[in-house]
Amino acid sequence: MIKGAILVTGTSRGIGSEIALELARRGFKVGCMSRGGGLPPSDKPLDADMQARLLAVQGDVTDEAALKAAVAQVAQWGGGIGGLVNNAGIHKDIRASQCSTADFEEVLRVNTVAPFIACREVYPYMSQANSGLIINVGSFFEKIGVKGYAAYCASKAGVGALTRVLAAEWGRNGISVLNIAPGYIETDMNRDYLNAGESGESVRSRTFVRRPGTVSEIARLIAALYVEDIVFLTGETIYFDGGRGISL
Ligand code: NDP
Repeated sequence: MIKGAILVTGTSRGIGSEIALELARRGFKVGCMSRGGGLPPSDKPLDADMQARLLAVQGDVTDEAALKAAVAQVAQWGGGIGGLVNNAGIHKDIRASQCSTADFEEVLRVNTVAPFIACREVYPYMSQANSGLIINVGSFFEKIGVKGYAAYCASKAGVGALTRVLAAEWGRNGISVLNIAPGYIETDMNRDYLNAGESGESVRSRTFVRRPGTVSEIARLIAALYVEDIVFLTGETIYFDGGRGISL
């Protein structure tokens, strides 16, 4: 059973905002970390019960002090931290020959180093409770070569490795760690690409279900994992890509 609140990073939009809302709909207390500091945007006004289950926390995940403060704030509000969803992420489309060290490092800082820090900071709360589920949001790009995505692919491969190591180290403390690796999920970030003629058709024709995933689908998967809390499921990368990663 999840004891305490769940901290979700990058809840201002896209996948992260829907994960936070879906977890709150299922009754969890959710700390919502975003650079803007507001609650996740919602189509419908949030009723009082939903508002009571959501805490807005302002902070940039690349700021270690802000991340530590966010963990402490959410733990105090939620009576501990039973869950962490490392969702905040960025990508830069730059060919490797043109990619500066600063650009490469920035992607790794947000996508890999920040999740590591957040995991390390929630560990004392979870180990004390002998219970916890950490979900890292990786990408199926971790296992393929994508032109222009050297930093992003490396950062997401790092997330898979981090997941396996933390699962190995913390299993004895009742903590499970998973890497959910999405394929194409339609968000503001990629809507134009996914709906453009050639690129959109390429995604659809190479995805078994003939469409990108929705934010609702990935949010419901992650919420279901928290509801079920299956401790034996740990260390794994779960590809959530409609078959795109194993398609010819
Ligand atoms: P979006 O670009 O729509 O949202 C990214 C979120 O991360 C925003 O809330 C953004 O906040 C936040 N963020 C970025 N940098 C920081 C930072 N330094 N500190 C705090 N928050 C930050 O992306 P998606 O919702 O599509 O992606 C979410 C996750 O899913 C990412 O990890 C991404 O790599 C992964 N993913 C997405 C896929 C897709 O097809 N959409 C496919 C595979 C993986 P702000 O508003 O402040 O910029």
